[in-house]
Amino acid sequence: MNIYESTRNKNITTTPSKAVLNGLAPDGGLFVMRDLENISIDINKIITMSYIEMAEYVLGKLLPDYPADVMKQCVKNAYVGKFDTDEVTPIAYAGDSIILELFHGPTCAFKDVALQMLPQLVTASKRLNNDSQQTVILTATSGDTGKAALEGFRDVEGTKIIVFFPNDGVSTVQKAQMTTQEGNNTYVCGINGNFDDTQTGVKIIFSDVNIKNTLLEKGMDFSSANSINVGRLAPQVVYYFYAYKKLIDDGRITLGDKVNFAVPTGNFGDILAGRYAKMMGLPVGKLICASNENNVLYDFINTGVYNKKRDLAKTISPSMDILVSSNLERLLYYASGKDNALVAQLMSDLATKGEYTVPDFMLDTIKDEFAAGYADSAAAKKTIKKYFDRTGYVADTHTAVALTVVDEYKATTGDTTPTVVLSTASPYKFSNSVYSAIFGDDAAAALADEYAIMEDLNAKTGVAIPSSLANLKSKPILHKTVKEKDKMADFVMESLGV
Ligand SMILES: *Cc1c(COP(=O)(O)O)cnc(C)c1O
Repeated sequence: MNIYESTRNKNITTTPSKAVLNGLAPDGGLFVMRDLENISIDINKIITMSYIEMAEYVLGKLLPDYPADVMKQCVKNAYVGKFDTDEVTPIAYAGDSIILELFHGPTCAFKDVALQMLPQLVTASKRLNNDSQQTVILTATSGDTGKAALEGFRDVEGTKIIVFFPNDGVSTVQKAQMTTQEGNNTYVCGINGNFDDTQTGVKIIFSDVNIKNTLLEKGMDFSSANSINVGRLAPQVVYYFYAYKKLIDDGRITLGDKVNFAVPTGNFGDILAGRYAKMMGLPVGKLICASNENNVLYDFINTGVYNKKRDLAKTISPSMDILVSSNLERLLYYASGKDNALVAQLMSDLATKGEYTVPDFMLDTIKDEFAAGYADSAAAKKTIKKYFDRTGYVADTHTAVALTVVDEYKATTGDTTPTVVLSTASPYKFSNSVYSAIFGDDAAAALADEYAIMEDLNAKTGVAIPSSLANLKSKPILHKTVKEKDKMADFVMESLGV
């Protein structure tokens, strides 16, 4: 069942479960399913399903070498009782806006939807492929990913997870989320350095042959929880179908109507999943790609030139502060008509020249399917206040970028297609920025700390604080280690006891 191939070489193929286990293809390409559009999803059937049933069905189609009973168990472990609603990804209405809330998981960010599922898929894959190695997940995080990965892998048999974060480079809440992490296989370490130092340190460990061999002798092997893994991408396809079903249930559309989706975009994984859903038969109109000041994708979708040679701006939507959107490579593959050689050339241009230009026929396809816009921090803050004042809805900073872009898109195009805005984080994850957007910088500065801001945001808006964030302040700190950036390998070895 070698139905997955490298975006860069069609002769490098693998099975779905091995693609999950390996993450990246050996030539540096990403694994894609060549015949994705031949998957038939029965929309009539799907709109009668619960989220859990839908996840089993859609994931079974995307990863067909997992037997049905195995997939069923994976989905159950990932989602049942882990999210604060059985709907997993509920829809909220704010005035005329339709908002798909992806942040109801254990860490209050959309990454939970994928990172609750990935560990299940990894361990099931090891059983299917008779791989008895312990999997050691190693991750550097600037905030959201590390915590979501820790929660996903905690106490998952046959795995250990080690997370490094810049000790002074994450918010109070983000730091507390990680240092209070429970689980008998979780290891967390602050680094005296910035995120780049931390990420570089992890890359050095990954490429250190001595460390790798030492681990192999002890029956362990490294892996990453990177967002290019098909085991992270596939679970994200599900909620596009779920949103469609909910709009039918709520009488907003009838079966067959097209729906637009607007997505606050960083690494291009979330929005790409919408492209996948469309290829699998979901009636999708435009996919609206929303960026912050780091608007590489906006430029690309408008001009066909991808140029990463620019400074990275620090914004109030940090999870979108990205210059190289890795998952875009998968769109290039499909938009080029599955031309692996062309994709390889473009990626080589990006590596050697810092930019690439797609041929006109590809740009036409991309423009046909995608719209793009961007909003800077000031605009996003205005939007947060506008939505709260008009509707009482409190949007997080990333979601606000998409809301801004959609309002602009509707005004300039006159497109009246129902548009679902994907909301990627709870406002309480970025309560500092959200609070000051609504009540002013001075009001925020007058409060003692982020916890006080959360409490006052709750008092003034009536929006409940997610319990996992409300409890943080009183949780014991379990991970206290802070290391210099050149001592990261020591932490790995100490943690693994080798
Ligand atoms: C990761 C993240 C994004 C970006 O998603 P991509 O799949 O990388 O495009 C947006 N918002 C939040 C809150 C995130 O954590």
